[in-house]
Amino acid sequence: MLIVMHHNAGKRQIEAVIKAVERMGFSAAPIPGSERTAIGVLGNKGYVDDATVRDLPGVQEVIHVSKPYKLVSRDFHPKNTIVKVAGLEIGTGRRPVVMAGPCAVESEDQIVKIARAVKSAGADMLRGGAFKPRTGPHTFQGLREEGLKLLALASRETGLPFVTEVMSPETVGLVAECAHLLQVGARNMQNFELLRELGKIRKPVLLKRGMSATIEEFLAAAEYILAEGNSSVILCERGIRTFETATRNTLDLAVVPLIKEVSHLPIVVDPSHATGRRSLVAPMVKASLVAGADGVMVEVHPDPEKALSDGPQSLTPAGFERLMQDVGRLLEFLA
Ligand code: PEP
Ligand code: MN
Repeated sequence: MLIVMHHNAGKRQIEAVIKAVERMGFSAAPIPGSERTAIGVLGNKGYVDDATVRDLPGVQEVIHVSKPYKLVSRDFHPKNTIVKVAGLEIGTGRRPVVMAGPCAVESEDQIVKIARAVKSAGADMLRGGAFKPRTGPHTFQGLREEGLKLLALASRETGLPFVTEVMSPETVGLVAECAHLLQVGARNMQNFELLRELGKIRKPVLLKRGMSATIEEFLAAAEYILAEGNSSVILCERGIRTFETATRNTLDLAVVPLIKEVSHLPIVVDPSHATGRRSLVAPMVKASLVAGADGVMVEVHPDPEKALSDGPQSLTPAGFERLMQDVGRLLEFLA
Protein backbone atom coordinates (compact mmCIF):
# COMPACT_ATOMS: atom_id res chain seq x y z
CA MET A 1 0.00 0.00 0.00
CA LEU A 2 1.17 3.49 -0.82
CA ILE A 3 -0.08 6.55 1.08
CA VAL A 4 0.14 9.74 -0.97
CA MET A 5 0.25 12.97 1.08
CA HIS A 6 -1.14 16.36 0.02
CA HIS A 7 1.48 18.63 -1.53
CA ASN A 8 1.16 20.99 1.45
CA ALA A 9 1.18 18.29 4.15
CA GLY A 10 3.49 19.27 6.97
CA LYS A 11 6.25 17.30 8.68
CA ARG A 12 4.00 16.60 11.69
CA GLN A 13 1.26 15.14 9.51
CA ILE A 14 3.77 12.89 7.74
CA GLU A 15 5.12 11.71 11.09
CA ALA A 16 1.60 11.01 12.38
CA VAL A 17 0.92 8.80 9.35
CA ILE A 18 4.21 6.94 9.84
CA LYS A 19 3.28 6.30 13.50
CA ALA A 20 -0.17 5.05 12.50
CA VAL A 21 1.37 2.62 10.01
CA GLU A 22 3.78 1.36 12.68
CA ARG A 23 0.90 0.91 15.14
CA MET A 24 -0.71 -1.37 12.52
CA GLY A 25 2.37 -3.59 12.79
CA PHE A 26 4.02 -2.56 9.50
CA SER A 27 7.00 -0.42 8.68
CA ALA A 28 6.71 2.86 6.80
CA ALA A 29 9.10 4.11 4.14
CA PRO A 30 8.66 7.82 3.35
CA ILE A 31 9.48 8.70 -0.26
CA PRO A 32 9.90 12.51 -0.49
CA GLY A 33 9.14 13.84 -3.98
CA SER A 34 9.46 17.30 -5.53
CA GLU A 35 5.72 17.98 -5.11
CA ARG A 36 4.65 15.73 -2.29
CA THR A 37 5.69 12.86 -0.06
CA ALA A 38 4.44 9.31 -0.50
CA ILE A 39 4.73 6.71 2.27
CA GLY A 40 5.23 3.09 1.34
CA VAL A 41 3.79 0.47 3.71
CA LEU A 42 6.09 -2.52 4.05
CA GLY A 43 5.89 -5.88 5.76
CA ASN A 44 2.27 -6.74 4.96
CA LYS A 45 1.46 -10.23 3.64
CA GLY A 46 -1.60 -9.20 1.65
CA TYR A 47 -4.34 -6.61 1.40
CA VAL A 48 -4.20 -3.97 4.17
CA ASP A 49 -7.34 -2.28 5.51
CA ASP A 50 -6.69 1.45 5.06
CA ALA A 51 -9.46 2.63 7.44
CA THR A 52 -7.09 3.95 10.11
CA VAL A 53 -4.92 6.00 7.75
CA ARG A 54 -7.03 7.24 4.86
CA ASP A 55 -8.73 10.01 6.87
CA LEU A 56 -5.68 11.27 8.75
CA PRO A 57 -4.88 14.96 8.19
CA GLY A 58 -2.67 15.51 5.16
CA VAL A 59 -3.51 12.21 3.42
CA GLN A 60 -4.60 12.72 -0.17
CA GLU A 61 -4.94 9.19 -1.47
CA VAL A 62 -4.26 5.56 -0.60
CA ILE A 63 -3.16 3.26 -3.41
CA HIS A 64 -3.49 -0.48 -2.91
CA VAL A 65 -0.90 -2.68 -4.51
CA SER A 66 -2.20 -6.01 -3.12
CA LYS A 67 -5.65 -7.24 -4.17
CA PRO A 68 -8.42 -8.09 -1.67
CA TYR A 69 -8.27 -11.68 -2.93
CA LYS A 70 -5.51 -14.24 -3.01
CA LEU A 71 -6.93 -17.78 -3.07
CA VAL A 72 -8.83 -17.15 -6.31
CA SER A 73 -5.84 -15.46 -7.94
CA ARG A 74 -3.82 -17.12 -10.66
CA ASP A 75 -0.66 -15.67 -9.08
CA PHE A 76 -0.79 -18.28 -6.34
CA HIS A 77 -2.46 -21.05 -8.34
CA PRO A 78 -1.35 -20.96 -12.00
CA LYS A 79 -3.25 -24.12 -13.07
CA ASN A 80 -6.93 -23.92 -14.06
CA THR A 81 -9.34 -25.25 -11.46
CA ILE A 82 -11.63 -27.90 -12.88
CA VAL A 83 -14.92 -28.07 -11.01
CA LYS A 84 -16.70 -31.43 -10.99
CA VAL A 85 -20.49 -31.44 -10.96
CA ALA A 86 -21.89 -34.97 -10.78
CA GLY A 87 -19.40 -36.38 -13.29
CA LEU A 88 -19.28 -33.27 -15.50
CA GLU A 89 -16.01 -31.38 -15.61
CA ILE A 90 -16.20 -27.59 -15.91
CA GLY A 91 -13.13 -25.55 -16.76
CA THR A 92 -11.16 -28.11 -18.76
CA GLY A 93 -10.79 -25.67 -21.64
CA ARG A 94 -12.07 -28.39 -23.96
CA ARG A 95 -15.83 -28.81 -23.92
CA PRO A 96 -18.02 -26.01 -22.53
CA VAL A 97 -21.11 -27.09 -20.59
CA VAL A 98 -24.66 -26.00 -21.35
CA MET A 99 -27.07 -25.49 -18.44
CA ALA A 100 -30.66 -25.00 -19.53
CA GLY A 101 -34.14 -24.88 -18.07
CA PRO A 102 -36.85 -22.55 -16.89
CA CYS A 103 -36.33 -19.46 -14.80
CA ALA A 104 -38.59 -21.01 -12.16
CA VAL A 105 -39.96 -24.47 -11.50
CA GLU A 106 -43.73 -24.08 -11.93
CA SER A 107 -45.14 -27.63 -11.88
CA GLU A 108 -44.12 -31.26 -12.28
CA ASP A 109 -45.39 -31.32 -15.84
CA GLN A 110 -43.48 -28.13 -16.77
CA ILE A 111 -40.10 -29.09 -15.29
CA VAL A 112 -40.15 -32.70 -16.51
CA LYS A 113 -41.19 -31.58 -20.00
CA ILE A 114 -38.39 -28.99 -20.17
CA ALA A 115 -35.81 -31.37 -18.68
CA ARG A 116 -36.61 -33.93 -21.39
CA ALA A 117 -36.53 -31.29 -24.14
CA VAL A 118 -33.20 -29.76 -23.12
CA LYS A 119 -31.66 -33.19 -22.60
CA SER A 120 -32.66 -34.36 -26.05
CA ALA A 121 -31.29 -31.12 -27.56
CA GLY A 122 -27.92 -31.86 -25.90
CA ALA A 123 -27.86 -29.85 -22.64
CA ASP A 124 -25.51 -31.10 -19.91
CA MET A 125 -27.32 -29.72 -16.88
CA LEU A 126 -30.83 -28.67 -15.89
CA ARG A 127 -31.43 -25.26 -14.32
CA GLY A 128 -34.52 -24.07 -12.49
CA GLY A 129 -35.32 -21.78 -9.58
CA ALA A 130 -37.18 -23.08 -6.54
CA PHE A 131 -36.32 -20.16 -4.25
CA LYS A 132 -36.74 -17.07 -6.46
CA PRO A 133 -35.17 -13.68 -5.66
CA ARG A 134 -37.89 -11.50 -7.21
CA THR A 135 -37.59 -7.73 -7.27
CA GLY A 136 -40.97 -7.23 -5.57
CA PRO A 137 -42.86 -9.40 -3.07
CA HIS A 138 -46.14 -9.49 -5.06
CA THR A 139 -44.83 -11.72 -7.86
CA PHE A 140 -44.30 -15.50 -7.97
CA GLN A 141 -41.68 -16.35 -5.35
CA GLY A 142 -41.00 -19.95 -6.36
CA LEU A 143 -42.27 -23.33 -5.14
CA ARG A 144 -39.46 -23.50 -2.56
CA GLU A 145 -39.07 -27.04 -1.01
CA GLU A 146 -41.67 -28.44 -3.41
CA GLY A 147 -39.65 -26.96 -6.28
CA LEU A 148 -36.51 -28.75 -5.06
CA LYS A 149 -38.39 -32.07 -5.02
CA LEU A 150 -39.62 -31.50 -8.57
CA LEU A 151 -36.11 -30.65 -9.75
CA ALA A 152 -34.80 -33.85 -8.15
CA LEU A 153 -37.56 -35.79 -9.89
CA ALA A 154 -36.81 -34.23 -13.31
CA SER A 155 -33.12 -34.91 -12.71
CA ARG A 156 -33.80 -38.59 -11.96
CA GLU A 157 -36.06 -38.89 -15.02
CA THR A 158 -33.44 -37.50 -17.39
CA GLY A 159 -30.11 -38.20 -15.71
CA LEU A 160 -29.25 -34.49 -15.91
CA PRO A 161 -27.63 -32.95 -12.82
CA PHE A 162 -29.31 -29.72 -11.74
CA VAL A 163 -28.35 -26.25 -10.54
CA THR A 164 -30.66 -24.16 -8.40
CA GLU A 165 -30.41 -20.99 -6.36
CA VAL A 166 -29.93 -20.83 -2.61
CA MET A 167 -30.93 -17.50 -1.08
CA SER A 168 -30.14 -17.75 2.63
CA PRO A 169 -27.52 -19.32 4.92
CA GLU A 170 -30.35 -21.19 6.72
CA THR A 171 -31.38 -23.11 3.58
CA VAL A 172 -27.88 -24.09 2.41
CA GLY A 173 -28.20 -27.54 4.05
CA LEU A 174 -31.61 -28.17 2.51
CA VAL A 175 -30.55 -27.18 -1.02
CA ALA A 176 -27.18 -28.94 -0.76
CA GLU A 177 -28.93 -32.23 0.08
CA CYS A 178 -30.38 -32.52 -3.40
CA ALA A 179 -28.84 -29.97 -5.81
CA HIS A 180 -25.70 -30.91 -7.73
CA LEU A 181 -24.61 -27.27 -8.06
CA LEU A 182 -25.74 -24.41 -5.79
CA GLN A 183 -26.29 -21.01 -7.37
CA VAL A 184 -25.74 -17.68 -5.66
CA GLY A 185 -27.83 -15.11 -7.53
CA ALA A 186 -26.62 -11.67 -8.59
CA ARG A 187 -28.61 -10.03 -5.79
CA ASN A 188 -26.82 -12.13 -3.19
CA MET A 189 -23.26 -11.90 -4.49
CA GLN A 190 -22.26 -9.92 -1.43
CA ASN A 191 -24.36 -11.81 1.11
CA PHE A 192 -21.23 -12.69 3.05
CA GLU A 193 -22.95 -14.96 5.58
CA LEU A 194 -24.36 -17.00 2.70
CA LEU A 195 -20.95 -17.16 1.01
CA ARG A 196 -19.30 -18.31 4.26
CA GLU A 197 -21.90 -21.05 4.72
CA LEU A 198 -21.31 -22.23 1.14
CA GLY A 199 -17.61 -22.35 1.87
CA LYS A 200 -18.26 -25.00 4.51
CA ILE A 201 -20.09 -27.49 2.29
CA ARG A 202 -18.61 -29.97 -0.14
CA LYS A 203 -20.86 -29.21 -3.10
CA PRO A 204 -19.83 -26.92 -5.98
CA VAL A 205 -21.10 -23.34 -6.12
CA LEU A 206 -22.05 -21.16 -9.10
CA LEU A 207 -21.45 -17.53 -8.11
CA LYS A 208 -23.20 -14.94 -10.26
CA ARG A 209 -21.73 -11.46 -10.63
CA GLY A 210 -23.73 -8.79 -8.83
CA MET A 211 -25.36 -6.34 -11.20
CA SER A 212 -23.21 -3.47 -9.94
CA ALA A 213 -20.13 -5.43 -8.91
CA THR A 214 -16.66 -4.65 -10.18
CA ILE A 215 -14.47 -7.57 -11.16
CA GLU A 216 -12.43 -7.03 -8.00
CA GLU A 217 -15.60 -7.27 -5.86
CA PHE A 218 -16.73 -10.35 -7.82
CA LEU A 219 -13.44 -12.11 -7.12
CA ALA A 220 -13.40 -10.95 -3.49
CA ALA A 221 -16.87 -12.54 -3.09
CA ALA A 222 -15.55 -15.83 -4.50
CA GLU A 223 -12.63 -15.53 -2.07
CA TYR A 224 -15.10 -15.81 0.85
CA ILE A 225 -16.14 -19.28 -0.34
CA LEU A 226 -12.58 -20.48 -0.92
CA ALA A 227 -11.44 -19.02 2.40
CA GLU A 228 -13.84 -21.37 4.22
CA GLY A 229 -12.41 -24.38 2.40
CA ASN A 230 -14.60 -24.90 -0.68
CA SER A 231 -12.61 -24.33 -3.86
CA SER A 232 -15.26 -25.73 -6.22
CA VAL A 233 -16.50 -22.36 -7.43
CA ILE A 234 -17.69 -21.47 -10.92
CA LEU A 235 -18.06 -17.76 -11.73
CA CYS A 236 -20.96 -16.53 -13.86
CA GLU A 237 -21.20 -13.28 -15.82
CA ARG A 238 -24.88 -12.33 -16.15
CA GLY A 239 -24.74 -8.72 -17.27
CA ILE A 240 -24.26 -5.53 -15.33
CA ARG A 241 -26.39 -2.43 -14.90
CA THR A 242 -25.40 0.48 -17.12
CA PHE A 243 -27.12 3.56 -18.58
CA GLU A 244 -28.47 1.40 -21.42
CA THR A 245 -32.13 0.42 -21.16
CA ALA A 246 -32.64 -1.33 -24.52
CA THR A 247 -31.34 -4.53 -22.96
CA ARG A 248 -32.15 -5.75 -19.43
CA ASN A 249 -28.46 -5.58 -18.49
CA THR A 250 -25.24 -5.02 -20.43
CA LEU A 251 -23.33 -8.22 -21.12
CA ASP A 252 -19.72 -7.59 -20.11
CA LEU A 253 -18.12 -10.23 -22.27
CA ALA A 254 -14.55 -9.00 -21.84
CA VAL A 255 -14.83 -10.38 -18.31
CA VAL A 256 -14.38 -13.90 -19.69
CA PRO A 257 -10.81 -13.52 -21.00
CA LEU A 258 -10.04 -11.06 -18.20
CA ILE A 259 -11.05 -13.52 -15.47
CA LYS A 260 -8.98 -16.18 -17.22
CA GLU A 261 -5.94 -13.88 -16.91
CA VAL A 262 -6.34 -13.11 -13.22
CA SER A 263 -8.05 -16.18 -11.78
CA HIS A 264 -7.87 -19.98 -12.07
CA LEU A 265 -11.63 -20.43 -11.55
CA PRO A 266 -13.92 -21.42 -14.44
CA ILE A 267 -16.32 -18.80 -15.78
CA VAL A 268 -19.65 -19.31 -17.54
CA VAL A 269 -22.02 -16.77 -19.10
CA ASP A 270 -25.79 -16.33 -18.73
CA PRO A 271 -26.98 -14.44 -21.83
CA SER A 272 -30.66 -14.81 -20.80
CA HIS A 273 -30.45 -12.48 -17.79
CA ALA A 274 -27.74 -10.39 -19.47
CA THR A 275 -29.93 -9.41 -22.42
CA GLY A 276 -33.51 -10.01 -21.22
CA ARG A 277 -34.57 -10.52 -24.84
CA ARG A 278 -35.15 -13.87 -26.52
CA SER A 279 -33.83 -12.72 -29.91
CA LEU A 280 -30.44 -11.77 -28.42
CA VAL A 281 -29.82 -14.95 -26.43
CA ALA A 282 -28.54 -17.24 -29.22
CA PRO A 283 -26.03 -14.71 -30.68
CA MET A 284 -24.69 -13.95 -27.21
CA VAL A 285 -24.39 -17.67 -26.35
CA LYS A 286 -22.20 -18.07 -29.43
CA ALA A 287 -20.20 -14.92 -28.63
CA SER A 288 -19.61 -16.22 -25.09
CA LEU A 289 -18.21 -19.49 -26.41
CA VAL A 290 -15.94 -17.65 -28.85
CA ALA A 291 -14.74 -15.49 -25.93
CA GLY A 292 -13.65 -18.68 -24.14
CA ALA A 293 -16.45 -19.25 -21.63
CA ASP A 294 -16.41 -22.61 -19.85
CA GLY A 295 -20.15 -22.87 -20.33
CA VAL A 296 -23.44 -21.06 -20.76
CA MET A 297 -26.72 -20.90 -18.89
CA VAL A 298 -29.90 -20.50 -20.94
CA GLU A 299 -33.53 -20.10 -19.88
CA VAL A 300 -35.99 -22.32 -21.77
CA HIS A 301 -39.78 -22.54 -21.31
CA PRO A 302 -42.37 -24.60 -23.23
CA ASP A 303 -44.76 -21.65 -23.30
CA PRO A 304 -42.81 -18.43 -22.62
CA GLU A 305 -45.96 -16.27 -22.93
CA LYS A 306 -47.36 -18.02 -19.87
CA ALA A 307 -44.12 -18.28 -17.87
CA LEU A 308 -44.45 -17.12 -14.25
CA SER A 309 -41.09 -15.34 -14.53
CA ASP A 310 -38.71 -14.19 -17.28
CA GLY A 311 -40.87 -15.29 -20.23
CA PRO A 312 -39.53 -12.56 -22.59
CA GLN A 313 -35.99 -13.92 -22.35
CA SER A 314 -36.87 -17.63 -22.44
CA LEU A 315 -36.24 -19.68 -25.55
CA THR A 316 -38.83 -22.22 -26.68
CA PRO A 317 -37.66 -25.86 -26.78
CA ALA A 318 -37.53 -25.58 -30.59
CA GLY A 319 -35.44 -22.39 -30.38
CA PHE A 320 -33.10 -24.09 -27.93
CA GLU A 321 -32.72 -27.08 -30.22
CA ARG A 322 -31.75 -24.81 -33.13
CA LEU A 323 -29.27 -23.03 -30.88
CA MET A 324 -27.71 -26.33 -29.83
CA GLN A 325 -27.24 -27.34 -33.46
CA ASP A 326 -25.43 -24.05 -34.11
CA VAL A 327 -23.38 -24.52 -30.93
CA GLY A 328 -22.33 -27.98 -32.09
CA ARG A 329 -21.06 -26.56 -35.40
CA LEU A 330 -19.36 -23.66 -33.64
CA LEU A 331 -17.53 -25.94 -31.22
CA GLU A 332 -16.28 -28.08 -34.09
CA PHE A 333 -15.00 -24.93 -35.79
CA LEU A 334 -13.33 -23.72 -32.58
CA ALA A 335 -11.71 -27.09 -31.81
C1 PEP B 1 -31.70 -16.78 -12.17
O1 PEP B 1 -30.72 -17.37 -12.64
O2 PEP B 1 -32.83 -17.26 -12.15
C2 PEP B 1 -31.53 -15.41 -11.65
C3 PEP B 1 -32.41 -14.86 -10.82
O3 PEP B 1 -30.42 -14.81 -12.11
P1 PEP B 1 -29.65 -13.49 -11.58
O4 PEP B 1 -29.36 -13.74 -10.14
O5 PEP B 1 -28.46 -13.47 -12.46
O6 PEP B 1 -30.59 -12.33 -11.80
MN1 MN C 1 -34.69 -15.82 -14.58
